[in-house]
Amino acid sequence: MGSGQVTDWQGKNVTVAGLGVSGIPAAKVLHGLGAKVTVVNDGDDARARAQAAELEALGIAVRLGDGATLPEGTELVVTAPGWKPDKPLFTAAREAGVDIWGDVELAWRLRGPDAAPWLAVTGTNGKTTTVQMLAEILKAAGLRTAAVGNIGVSLLDAVLGEEYDVLAVELSSYQLHWAPSLRAHSAAVLNLAPDHLDWHGSMEAYAADKGRIYEGNRVACVYNVADKATEDLVREADVEEGCRAIGFTLGAPAPSQLGVVDGILVDRAFVENRQKSAQELAEVSDVDPPAPHNIANALAAAALARAFGVPPKAVRDGLRAFTPDAHRIAHVADVAGVSYVDDSKATNTHAAEASLAAYESIVWIAGGLAKGAVFEELVAKSAGHLRAAVLMGADRGLIREALARHAPEVPVVDLDRTDTGAMLAAVQEAQRLARPGDTVLLAPACASMDMFANYNQRGDAFAEAVRELGAGA
Ligand code: ADP
Repeated sequence: MGSGQVTDWQGKNVTVAGLGVSGIPAAKVLHGLGAKVTVVNDGDDARARAQAAELEALGIAVRLGDGATLPEGTELVVTAPGWKPDKPLFTAAREAGVDIWGDVELAWRLRGPDAAPWLAVTGTNGKTTTVQMLAEILKAAGLRTAAVGNIGVSLLDAVLGEEYDVLAVELSSYQLHWAPSLRAHSAAVLNLAPDHLDWHGSMEAYAADKGRIYEGNRVACVYNVADKATEDLVREADVEEGCRAIGFTLGAPAPSQLGVVDGILVDRAFVENRQKSAQELAEVSDVDPPAPHNIANALAAAALARAFGVPPKAVRDGLRAFTPDAHRIAHVADVAGVSYVDDSKATNTHAAEASLAAYESIVWIAGGLAKGAVFEELVAKSAGHLRAAVLMGADRGLIREALARHAPEVPVVDLDRTDTGAMLAAVQEAQRLARPGDTVLLAPACASMDMFANYNQRGDAFAEAVRELGAGA
């Protein structure tokens, strides 16, 4: 299929791997372009059958219960991003010399000749927040844009639908793995901590897939000065002539960096004389919440926007317009001088570490499904901020042991519960342990599925419990 646009799809044999959020629209679009589409899917349950029936009615072939065999005559495989690269279907495709594209690659190849450039964001944590901040900034500059990709509008819709000037694109490591020819205008890797290693096989492979976001960048590769691994990825990337490496830092910026000086976000990269001058962009208090990791997200968003030529005022206006999604360091209430904060979205240790760093004195509510995580570093780094910890969920024992080793002076309440109702008990215990001025922080460092349907429900349960406290106070 080469690496350029495919203009003639008529009669092309395309296998779409996976009936799902990306597979179904991909199958429909390719069928609409005249391709001969076969969808293959591992599962064969009632839902899959209903979806298959809908596609078959359009004339698309579907094979349920067999996602391993490559259909005869396949010329291209378009896969759901989550499918692991070692699947037999892909081995067969590679042996037959057939290209494998993910959902992002497909969108990239289907975009029109005058399509909007992409400002792309990846990282272990902070992607959604940063992309939303970026979209707000671009809008404040009067540009037609949307936050797309792993969030909100699908990329396929974005490239085939309404006209945009520029897109703010969130990309996961899986999506990047399957997007070999993607070339962003500019891109940022926010941070890099071990995640999804079972899928990628190793930390090196995970980092390499994240690093693909910089390949072929035209204007700026944005990296995190505090996370050397992100800068290494910039150095290894093959970019267009003249593309610049731009760092963001919570400290004072060096030339070609954005950073913070006396509570002001400043740009020392996209200014006339960066040796001598800096441009004020916004105040730390313009960012909601003004926690350190979130200021980092704002700086990354600002760097991408500035790389696209957005004026400073739009950065400030966009950051002011931004409101975080639910359950991401959301302030729930103050009860008796104690602040209650819901960061249920902190589902891994790297995210929890960022939110524990954001408050001085914390009663920490944690626990859930660890997904193979280790808590030693998180606890060792956060010990100085902990008034107490309240633990629940299936893997709470791992956190308890880490606390005993690295923060033995911190009082710990182990609720020994994994039922949904445990959240109220956790909040009541936290209230007992907290002193005025403290923050009770739900930052579980774990997934929620042992006790809740998802992190949203877990955060809602926390907020509900806090409201009950408030009503009784
Ligand atoms: P993602 O889309 O990468 O999952 P989100 O923006 O949804 O990221 O944030 C998820 C969680 O990660 C937040 O609730 C917060 O705890 C944490 N987080 C956000 N930004 C950062 C960051 N820059 N560094 C570390 N943790 C972060």
